Amino acid sequence: MAKSPEVKLAVFGRAGVGKSALVVRLLTRRFIWEYDPTLESTYRHQASIDDEVVTMEILDTAGQEDVQQKEGHMRWGDGFVLVYDITDRGSFEEVAPLRSLLEEVKKPKNVPLVLLGNKSDLDHARQVATEEGERLAAEMACAFYECSACADEGGAVAEAFHELCREVRRR
Ligand code: GDP
Ligand code: MG
Repeated sequence: MAKSPEVKLAVFGRAGVGKSALVVRLLTRRFIWEYDPTLESTYRHQASIDDEVVTMEILDTAGQEDVQQKEGHMRWGDGFVLVYDITDRGSFEEVAPLRSLLEEVKKPKNVPLVLLGNKSDLDHARQVATEEGERLAAEMACAFYECSACADEGGAVAEAFHELCREVRRR
């Protein structure tokens, strides 16, 4: 039997945007309110995507790394989830520089990405319009989802990770 494909995914974004909560949501379909913010972990997760079992190795970064550590994580990964918090404009502004560093590290390959605007349940505190996320994703030529790790009704979190796996497998 053919070995099931493995993809290495790294989750990046400013501390506090919900990276760990998103990964926990993907793995357990649950939300955990408090998660050690300094923790960096890798997880293995299997999912059936388009009738194929794919094993994801997921690196949940802490979001406080120095440039050398970031570059190491970027070299390790095949695909990248760039997360911002729709209630934190600063976290949105950190996405483009992350993307530039990724391009630099992965050159000349172009890099499979998805952009995630998290905490969509906090619409009353929104600082980043949906259209701004869409525009940034168009510039980066990647898929875009607004989602909520704590109220993931439509399963957007899993959909985003699965789409990224497809993108990696297409290359
Ligand atoms: P990380 O530093 O990016 O890993 O962020 P965490 O996953 O530790 O989450 C930071 C804080 O945001 C925690 O207090 C979480 O409970 C909260 N949080 C994460 N995702 C969501 C979300 O979708 N909605 C809301 N309301 N809070 C969230
Ligand atoms: Mg975390």
